[in-house]
Amino acid sequence: MRTIETLGSLRSRTVIVRCDLNVPLSDGVITDDGRIRASLATIRELRDAGAKLVLISHLGRPKGEPDPQFSLRPVAERMSELLGAQVRFVEETVGDAAQAAVSDLSDGEVMLLENLRFNAAETSKDAAERRAFAEQLAAYADAFVSDGFGVVHRKQASVYELAQLLPSAAGRLVAAELEVLERLTVDPKRPYTVVLGGSKVSDKLGVIAHLLDRVDTLLIGGGMLFTFLRAQGHAVASSLLEEDQLDTVRGYLAEAERRGVRIVLPTDVVVAERFGDDAAHEVVAADAIESSSFGASGIGLDIGPDSAEAFAREIAGSQIVFWNGPMGVFEMEAFASGTRTVARALTETSAFTVVGGGDSAAAVRALGFSDDQFGHISTGGGASLEFLEGKSLPGLEVLA
Ligand code: ADP
Ligand code: MG
Repeated sequence: MRTIETLGSLRSRTVIVRCDLNVPLSDGVITDDGRIRASLATIRELRDAGAKLVLISHLGRPKGEPDPQFSLRPVAERMSELLGAQVRFVEETVGDAAQAAVSDLSDGEVMLLENLRFNAAETSKDAAERRAFAEQLAAYADAFVSDGFGVVHRKQASVYELAQLLPSAAGRLVAAELEVLERLTVDPKRPYTVVLGGSKVSDKLGVIAHLLDRVDTLLIGGGMLFTFLRAQGHAVASSLLEEDQLDTVRGYLAEAERRGVRIVLPTDVVVAERFGDDAAHEVVAADAIESSSFGASGIGLDIGPDSAEAFAREIAGSQIVFWNGPMGVFEMEAFASGTRTVARALTETSAFTVVGGGDSAAAVRALGFSDDQFGHISTGGGASLEFLEGKSLPGLEVLA
């Protein structure tokens, strides 16, 4: 993969940098600035090299048109603080004002354009539309640095087409993330344990298929565990369930058994009366969820304490642990225990630990852990999963 060095001298040259500044916001306040921090290495290096920097990113999922709640303005402010230098913010992505601001940049100066996804072309299915938008972006700069690891698995204008229109290279974050992923795929140490949770069940099933011939143990928590329990014939009351994935999951369970891979499911679950922080809740056996006081309306919102301890022991005995997806609805204190126990186990094991996934990274920070207690906290959940699934990532292919 081409690195920044291959771009030659960048003094007084305008470099457009695709970052992933898609941070979680609550009422306009950034609740986890991890992705901004992760983007700083490349930005500092390019500033030191005397480049003029035009940063681009998406934030959230606006509907292809301007929507103030997804503005990158708060990100520019936070980045200015972290960088110790003003990051100019431009209220449009392409247009006369953006062009004028770019022309006005001096060496080492940094500016951030408004949310790429305020333009429908960014994520268009039509390659020609994406290409036309990428051409507008390319017109600003002499070179392109791709550093938004969280989006390298997407064929989007600012990731895929833009890289083909300018001399382009991978930024330091993308390079660092890849190095870690290679440790997880090329001759990994054993025992190799993967902990999967979160809510996007179908998103994560693909990775299981691929991991079955690489890992020793899969620990399943979060919303997806109920599809597994159901596949084994247990009732799951009103917990998250993807019926259409049941056959796939049964296939994985059989395949795992054939290959000697252990898929470890929780033995106990925290079941709540309803989805809410103050909801009544109790711990029940995972194979008897409907026997809780809430009957068929109970919702499983966390793994139980016995399961969390069992998962922690598995993690303690591993050499490599990859974790994606919270064990429960950690945003609510009542259902954060499973995630906390697993996170603590990751900080205590001697294994090389990798945390992937936006919510997982936010969870460990929200629960009071610091980044340096883990081997690596990835900024890209989807991208790391697709890499681990063995898929080729379009945003990386174009940098090869
Ligand atoms: P990541 O961003 O780390 O890949 P996901 O986006 O897949 O993780 O999932 C994170 C979300 O999963 C969290 O918001 C959490 O509340 C939710 N979640 C975890 N366990 C459950 C559950 N049992 N039921 C519903 N949602 C859950
Ligand atoms: Mg998520």
